[in-house]
Amino acid sequence: MFTSLDGCSVLVTGGSKGIGRGIAAVFARAGARVVITGRDESSLRTACREIGGETSYVIADVSVREDCDRMAATTVERHGGIDVLCANAGIFPAARLEAMTAADLDGVIGTNLNGTVFAVQACLDALTASGRGRVVVTSSITGPYTGYPGWSHYGASKAAQLGFVRTAALELAPRAITINAVLPGNIATEGLDGLGEDYLAAMAASVPQKRLGRVADIGHAALFFATEEASYITGQTLVVDGGQVLPESLQALEEI
Ligand code: NAP
Repeated sequence: MFTSLDGCSVLVTGGSKGIGRGIAAVFARAGARVVITGRDESSLRTACREIGGETSYVIADVSVREDCDRMAATTVERHGGIDVLCANAGIFPAARLEAMTAADLDGVIGTNLNGTVFAVQACLDALTASGRGRVVVTSSITGPYTGYPGWSHYGASKAAQLGFVRTAALELAPRAITINAVLPGNIATEGLDGLGEDYLAAMAASVPQKRLGRVADIGHAALFFATEEASYITGQTLVVDGGQVLPESLQALEEI
């Protein structure tokens, strides 16, 4: 059995919806005290109510350094420190190359990459004081492993997070902080609800396990990286995708 995370202090950016809310719920069920962040207060409030346990929120935009500093300071005020940062907040607006504006590119990089770096920087002192600090970054298979038309800027931001993780792991090692990344495949979130059953079924058909991932699948991977037993793992990536990146051709998928 893994050592308990009961009572530890966890900060989850983008914890009001989707994968972040799933990560927060898994940590809360494990007894952690959780602060979630996002920009929209009403979804933060709803998420806190649904997650339960000792969960609270801070309104903060991760693309703004001062907001990240404030979310870290508030978490320290409430919990006395930070043991785990889940840098999860991300956006994925589509834009093909011929139409992509500088603002589109800045927006995606500003939230997905800068937001990850700002969040880690803001939590650095508290994670060091913890003596067992953990950072878990939500990246994606899109970018590091796969591509999808319309998401070149998004894929670049998700691959860039991994470059950040690898060098940050070196800088954080003397502080006894580990930093790792989870790479989700297609995860069922409320954001996909509007796409319709046929679209979702087609997405699931491209996965060897023939189902979309659940937010808890990502939460459990994040929880593992946060455990005492994972203390010697740093700078690494964990793909959680039901085997989606494995088939080398359509035929390989059809022959399963
Ligand atoms: P989602 O359902 O849209 O949730 C995104 C969360 O991030 C929300 O809580 C949102 O709250 C918050 N957020 C967005 N921009 C923010 C900002 N600038 N500052 C603070 N919070 C912000 O998205 P998701 O699908 O769960 O994605 C979460 C992460 O998983 C992202 O990093 C994404 O790249 C990654 N991912 C998702 C999938 C998937 O299949 N869903 C696959 C691979 C990777 P507000 O809008 O209120 O700020």
